Amino acid sequence: MRIGLFGGTFDPPHHGHLIVASDAYAALGLTRLLLVPSAVHPFKRFRVRAPASLRAEMVRAAVRGDERFEVDELELHRAGPSYTVDTLRALRERYPEAELFLLIGADNVRELPQWHEPEEIVRLARLGVVSRGGGAIREDTELPLVPVPVTRVDISSTEIRRRVAAGESIRYLVPDAVREIVLREGLYRDPILSGDKDPC
Ligand code: ATP
Ligand code: MG
Repeated sequence: MRIGLFGGTFDPPHHGHLIVASDAYAALGLTRLLLVPSAVHPFKRFRVRAPASLRAEMVRAAVRGDERFEVDELELHRAGPSYTVDTLRALRERYPEAELFLLIGADNVRELPQWHEPEEIVRLARLGVVSRGGGAIREDTELPLVPVPVTRVDISSTEIRRRVAAGESIRYLVPDAVREIVLREGLYRDPILSGDKDPC
């Protein structure tokens, strides 16, 4: 059994995420891919604009009916800062026999050594690195990385928030079900909060 973990703020989830998830599922021969919305550390909170409950609802709406995927809110129910290593430990307990794969975007790999307990992360899971818009997978790292070829789709949540704030359409960038929640809840309309680029 091969279980994949794909975490993100998903603020909001978009077709880039879904194509990565779908391609990685196939490329790694996964049994199940867990989409895990992350809680946001208090010092970063000003950058996240939708509450955790809505981010989770949007991810669920995005993959509803697709049996390959499961939305897991375990990071949202945990007290204190949310560390990937703790999530992997929880998954290891839940699936003692499974091979675990942690998916990360090539844009986030260089920060990995600064994550909490990186050696433990690579002991618990294999790292599947997905390429992203021009950012080649760095080879000057000691970490054992599994490159995961995925269709390049240059969509980001930052761009979606910018468009909503500017009154532009986000149709086709996100699933209709996600767009409906964004509109229903009036998310991302404040241009002051939506202007900056999220570095995560
Ligand atoms: P933001 O612009 O707010 O940072 P994002 O689009 O980067 O949002 P995240 O929720 O931060 O989305 O991303 C979660 C994970 O998905 C990260 O590992 C990120 O690198 C990856 N990812 C997001 N969009 C893409 C994309 N279009 N192609 C490849 N990987 C992506
Ligand atoms: Mg990001």
